[in-house]
Amino acid sequence: MGMRDLFSGLAEIRPLARCLGTLKGARGIPRRMLELVSWSATTSRYHLWAAPTGITVFRFDAAPPHYACPKCYERRLISRLQADAERCLYVCPLCGCDYLLKERPKPPPLDYGPGGFIEPGR
Ligand SMILES: [Zn+2]
Repeated sequence: MGMRDLFSGLAEIRPLARCLGTLKGARGIPRRMLELVSWSATTSRYHLWAAPTGITVFRFDAAPPHYACPKCYERRLISRLQADAERCLYVCPLCGCDYLLKERPKPPPLDYGPGGFIEPGR
């Protein structure tokens, strides 16, 4: 099942989940259904977001704002991406995937010597 299918599926499920949420304490609602309600309530706070690099992740804008791993999201796990400033990446602590969400700063221009060549040892 692709991400697109998952989202269109969720959109259909949400009104039902909201309805079931009011019955949460009621007996006879299968556990699976309650899990679905809970997941739906969680995901309603996230939205798919495309980074300037073209990579899509889930985004949570309330406090504290953070990004969530789209791969783990498909497995119904919210995993907050952690910034790895050194590599300019965001890393998922659960699956280890990394995401380039911001353009890397451009390296400084190469230092050419007087002859137009990079001199050894420079
Ligand atoms: Zn992940």
